Amino acid sequence: MKTIYPCKCGKCRQFAMAPASIAYSESHFHDGESYQIEILQLPILKCGSCGEVILTNESDEQISDAIRSAAKLLSPIELRQKREQIGWSTLDLANATRSAEATIIRWENGGQLHRKIDDCLLRLIFDRADVRTQLLPTKLIPAISGSSLSLANSTNLTNATK
Ligand SMILES: [Zn+2]
Repeated sequence: MKTIYPCKCGKCRQFAMAPASIAYSESHFHDGESYQIEILQLPILKCGSCGEVILTNESDEQISDAIRSAAKLLSPIELRQKREQIGWSTLDLANATRSAEATIIRWENGGQLHRKIDDCLLRLIFDRADVRTQLLPTKLIPAISGSSLSLANSTNLTNATK
């Protein structure tokens, strides 16, 4: 549903709330550390009557992006792409990181910032096949064709090489 602007201001009750942008500068705490965030043009809603400013989902997303980049965390897009490159599902990644699948999905859609320790673990998983085998031994290396190797096939392969 698209909001029609100007909409009603929660403070002065005038229909004067409209999209605008502000220079945003604030320190944010994430995962035990403080990050100074500067956004030159943060999209917000501003009341033309009383000056009330409210943050929107878009504002929150941009602030999260800025924190992520200041903390040098993988972005949601990088996370999904890297997971897909190793042929893992969100459930595989959840099992390997001992997290809930819903958590992985929130990391990938930008709904939740992951911790630095998770970022280290994720990078190890994405970069190192030996780490993947260690964390998720039941997950087999995907076949070159792109289709996942079934257990039966892998058993045959193992036997064939003996
Ligand atoms: Zn107002």
